[in-house]
Amino acid sequence: MRRKLVVGNWKMHGSIATNKVLLEGVIKGVGQARDADYVVCVPYPYLCQAQHMLEGTNIAWGAQNLCARGDGAVTGAVSPTMLTDWGCTYVIIGHSERRMQFHETDDTAAARFHAAQEAGMTPILCMGETREERDSDWTEFIVGRQLDSILRRYGPGVLKNSILAYEPLWAVGTGHPATPEQAQEVHAFIRARIARCDAEIAAKVRILYGGSVKPENAAQLFRMPDIDGGLIGGASLTAESFVPICLAA
Ligand code: PGA
Repeated sequence: MRRKLVVGNWKMHGSIATNKVLLEGVIKGVGQARDADYVVCVPYPYLCQAQHMLEGTNIAWGAQNLCARGDGAVTGAVSPTMLTDWGCTYVIIGHSERRMQFHETDDTAAARFHAAQEAGMTPILCMGETREERDSDWTEFIVGRQLDSILRRYGPGVLKNSILAYEPLWAVGTGHPATPEQAQEVHAFIRARIARCDAEIAAKVRILYGGSVKPENAAQLFRMPDIDGGLIGGASLTAESFVPICLAA
């Protein structure tokens, strides 16, 4: 049985004052929950605050990106070892906003993914198609290509300590989530593709769904056989919406 996981992706939101209220609310709401795993991925300046406030709780914390290179002359970048120095355990890799706005590619996502693992962190690899790609029936081609960029380079073994997230771009931040059946179909495709390389790893890897998950739809999505939890954007920004999603897992 795969254990469910709910990850909050704060994106570029927060302040010391609002984070405090949010984290206190999340600790109060899910601090006693033991049925699933919970993570919040915060902007770099707030890693210290997350570390401080979440220490000793059942809520882990992570970053939203990293530089694939080791420490050195890369102005504005944050290395994997800097993150692990804080005790940071998770990092989101290849989010569609990074791919669209910062020209990240399958290749750079694969390099970041590998660098995170080498440093001992658990990468959360995001994959997903645009509305146009779905309408052209390219969903499996696109998601397959994104997955293969990791599998071809590093082999299925890298998935042992990693999380995958299916996040259709047409559902991210739009208020129009995939239906549980639409999401399940792609999750099953991802798992089957991994199973071609290694059935045991395919059965164990957790695949999250992300894209307009809300308290109202979380339980139905999480009930699907290949959906192992969620990557939550907008609804992770208040305890009122994030806690019920966590408790639905
Ligand atoms: P959303 O974002 O929940 O606001 O749709 C999900 C994500 O981008 O990870």
